[in-house]
Amino acid sequence: MAQASVTRRYRFCAAHRLHTDHLSPKDNQTVFGKCNNPNGHGHNYVVLVTVKSEDPTATGGRMDLDRLDRTVGQQVITRFDHRDLNQDPEFAHCTTTGENLVLLIWDLLVQSLPAGQLEKVGLIETRDNYFEYAGAVGMLNDKC
Ligand SMILES: [Zn+2]
Repeated sequence: MAQASVTRRYRFCAAHRLHTDHLSPKDNQTVFGKCNNPNGHGHNYVVLVTVKSEDPTATGGRMDLDRLDRTVGQQVITRFDHRDLNQDPEFAHCTTTGENLVLLIWDLLVQSLPAGQLEKVGLIETRDNYFEYAGAVGMLNDKC
């Protein structure tokens, strides 16, 4: 049976600094450029959350968007909005790149939504930078 999906858009604003203690200050500057500025900088992040629609026999195919909004609000927006991402415990040993942030958002949501419902998480960091993930849980911890 064909199953549609729905994507909801969410926003949060946060600061960060791209830096790793594994590199020298000079190499950090080379790798991360202006994103390594010691004073940090901010982004207006956009999160695109794609979920499978519910079983059409139960709900007419209509996803419970209020529930999705509450989950994303509690798990993602409240946690990151107007925060310094470098201070988040999950980034204690991990650089706050868009790749790593989208992995963390996936983990936070996939564990809070009904099994199999989350299809994909997208993260727009800048006009030109978009990150996307759908896959195994815990990949951020494996990387850091
Ligand atoms: Zn940045």
